[in-house]
Amino acid sequence: MELIKPKVDTLKKAGIKGEIERYKRYHSFVLQCSDSYVLTQTALSFAAALLCDNGGCGECSRCDRIMRSIYPDVRFYPKAGVAQIRVDDARDIVAESYKASIEGRGKVFILNSANSANDAGWQNMLLKTLEEPNSDTYLILCVNTSASLLQTVLSRCILITIPEPDWHDVAAYLRSCGCERTKADLVGLASGGSYGNALEIMGKKEQLKLLDETVKMLRDMKSSADSYKYNNIIQKNASFAVKMLQYMSAVFGELIKLHCTDGSVVENSQSGACCTILSELAVKYTLSACVFIMDEINYAKDRLDMRSRYQYVLDELILKILEVAHKCRQ
Ligand SMILES: [Zn+2]
Repeated sequence: MELIKPKVDTLKKAGIKGEIERYKRYHSFVLQCSDSYVLTQTALSFAAALLCDNGGCGECSRCDRIMRSIYPDVRFYPKAGVAQIRVDDARDIVAESYKASIEGRGKVFILNSANSANDAGWQNMLLKTLEEPNSDTYLILCVNTSASLLQTVLSRCILITIPEPDWHDVAAYLRSCGCERTKADLVGLASGGSYGNALEIMGKKEQLKLLDETVKMLRDMKSSADSYKYNNIIQKNASFAVKMLQYMSAVFGELIKLHCTDGSVVENSQSGACCTILSELAVKYTLSACVFIMDEINYAKDRLDMRSRYQYVLDELILKILEVAHKCRQ
């Protein structure tokens, strides 16, 4: 199966689509979204919408080149191979903003500020350009959270919050790439609604196997002999332990949401709001069991952060889950 890049129609979700002429009156924007993949894709489609003659049709040569990051008037910072935006980059942007665009339709500077927000130097350097940019220049600052930027920067920009994708979006995308339903649901769930996480899981066979075994354990484990069996499969190394906790946390988070939504698990399953795996787990773990397990997962994460031996941490967690599942059956 080949994973094509997900097409994320976030402009519509963010309320920009259809409103682009209004947005064009402004020139400095902050895009915020906790999912970095969605953030980058949205910045590109936004740039296309600003420069395309048809508001980002997605079909013309300009849109195509912008989405493939090969359009000469859309520049990216930090530059390839560099982790953070530097003061020199900001100086470069200020100088470039006074030059005419190469293709005559205006230019867009996309700044991936996620790793660079702590540094005030480049932000201060850009203040004047953000406030009074050239009429054909747009600046798009991308951040995971706007709180990381200087207040003086924020006050000069239009803040656009992109709704986070959820696991259904990610699972639908995986299915559109040819992934079979159960696997797409499983990876979507474990991704916590992040395309980046899903692509990582799909790209690594051992992660996919770990995920599969983790969910099987949660669903099928009935005795301490079972817990021993799964423990042997799952416990490979500390980084696997971190991944496993991440998957469990995403799954139990969704289970809690599912238990709190109106209607029975069966109704939700029939309406497509939940998938087979979730409904099977929801039958096995009650709401209070899920909340208890979620606390234990967070405690286990803290212990791993404090460098406790991952084997002990996982052993204890799995036994607690077994105990809770047993109580739920009674
Ligand atoms: Zn176009």
